[in-house]
Amino acid sequence: MRPERQQTLNLEIPKGIFEQMLEHAKTEAPIEACGILAGRDGRAEKLYKMTNRDNKGDHFMMVPQEQFRVAKDIRSSGLEMLVIYHSHPDTPARPSAEDIRLALTPDVTYVIVSLRDDPGRVVKGFLIEEGDITEVPVKILEQ
Ligand SMILES: [Zn+2]
Repeated sequence: MRPERQQTLNLEIPKGIFEQMLEHAKTEAPIEACGILAGRDGRAEKLYKMTNRDNKGDHFMMVPQEQFRVAKDIRSSGLEMLVIYHSHPDTPARPSAEDIRLALTPDVTYVIVSLRDDPGRVVKGFLIEEGDITEVPVKILEQ
């Protein structure tokens, strides 16, 4: 049990960023959208849209050079990488077997935006560590 666990379990996303994330998912559909949220103390402050290199509707893979650039920008802004998000255009907001297998970035919450029930979209957060999944409540801040 690492001490940062507790902090990661508290994920707050300001409404504006949340809407950008939904919009991104909608725009990319039927391809999976993917991106990164940066912030501090479990609160998102900045959204980065990433390229889904695989261009598929049931899979995403980020472009390494883009990831490095974003990681560098996050560090130089004094923020942390809080969330890796992606959309499920046609399946529920649950990590797929592949999502679990490829969840290799430590200390981030994996957020899944499901468009299946559009317009009642479902957004869920998960900690995925070595195959163990813990749901993280996503709190939307009204401001
Ligand atoms: Zn997925």
